[in-house]
Amino acid sequence: MNKMQKLSVQVNALAKELANTLAAFRRDLHRHPELSFQEKRTSQAIRNLLSQSGIDFIPLEAETGVLGVIEGHATLDSSLVTALRGDIDALPIKEMTGLEYSSVHPQVMHACGHDGNTTMVLGAAIILSRLRASFGGVVKLIFQPGEETLRGAKSMIAQGVLDNPRVDRIYACHGWPGLTTGQIGVYPGRYMASAGRFEISVTSSGSHGAYPHQASDATLTACEIVQRLNCVVSRELSALDSAVLSVCTINGGEAFNIMPEKVIITGTIRCLNKDVEACLKAAIERVVEGVTKTNRCGGNLIIEDLVPSLCNSTSGVEAVQLAASRIMPSEAFALLPQPCMGSEDFSHYLQKVPEGAFIRVGVTPEGQHPIPLHSGKFNFDDQSLVTGSALLAQIVLDRHVP
Ligand SMILES: [Zn+2]
Ligand SMILES: [Zn+2]
Repeated sequence: MNKMQKLSVQVNALAKELANTLAAFRRDLHRHPELSFQEKRTSQAIRNLLSQSGIDFIPLEAETGVLGVIEGHATLDSSLVTALRGDIDALPIKEMTGLEYSSVHPQVMHACGHDGNTTMVLGAAIILSRLRASFGGVVKLIFQPGEETLRGAKSMIAQGVLDNPRVDRIYACHGWPGLTTGQIGVYPGRYMASAGRFEISVTSSGSHGAYPHQASDATLTACEIVQRLNCVVSRELSALDSAVLSVCTINGGEAFNIMPEKVIITGTIRCLNKDVEACLKAAIERVVEGVTKTNRCGGNLIIEDLVPSLCNSTSGVEAVQLAASRIMPSEAFALLPQPCMGSEDFSHYLQKVPEGAFIRVGVTPEGQHPIPLHSGKFNFDDQSLVTGSALLAQIVLDRHVP
């Protein structure tokens, strides 16, 4: 057995040894979920576990989020800095799992499995802290708030988590119901969509419901806009281009006999490609302008770019594949067959850091039907914590062991 093979055996053994600690930690987070940018208790729990494990952390300006740091003790020829990111926030969803460690907050739940993602980074951190003598360079542990708002990564980057020393590789694990516990998957290339939010205000002078001819009709205009918007992807894009344009809210009116002065429509656009994104934005602008003008209404459009698309780098994917081959059976690793139109603010890190990857970790127990993320019935299999922790630790060792 060579040096790395011996270390890989240790990684697996340490991960298994930590199984109960990690499960207990995740269940505690699960019981006490906190919404985006309110993760004070969660941040404190992370700091406590880091301290108990002899891992340092650097104070941040923001109240939530933690930056842990582990320096390896071996000497390397060049300085290497790898970051591992875990997202820590929960969602405004009522939990319906019936688990004994269900959320104590009525309308808040770790329905995206960020309790598990956070715990996997902590697991990797503890494994690495015990193997400090074997590797060199620096490992940064980014526990990020506010992923569900797609604003947390930007806030952590603004606080300098990628600087001093400069991070040059970054990885994250996210639980994925589509894979069975014990499996991991990664997509080579552009994997997740960019996300934009649009808000359209349609205005009119308002009128009595009995005398519509005395005003313009904001409700009817809004309905026409929604219909026209739903033609953009099907009629203006090539069938070979991927894009989503969804209207998700429409609000207006106070009473059955008053025509409202304002109707507000909000929705999201998701794209894998910049040109397609530009085409969608131009189409929304044209539809709002054209339909409101035709119907004698006022119109205002705001489009906010939330996150860019997420692209896994070639060497990042290779690093995941190599690490998986060292610590798990070959059938446990999958190159994912296709991208998805969901979005992740991890893409902000991948725009600043030259190499890295966003990894899917299976969380559905063998033989069980997958329950989607963001469902009140979603649960994260505790066994997956062992898989994800070992994988992240091994990715670092493959790079940092001299
Ligand atoms: Zn989510
Ligand atoms: Zn998530």
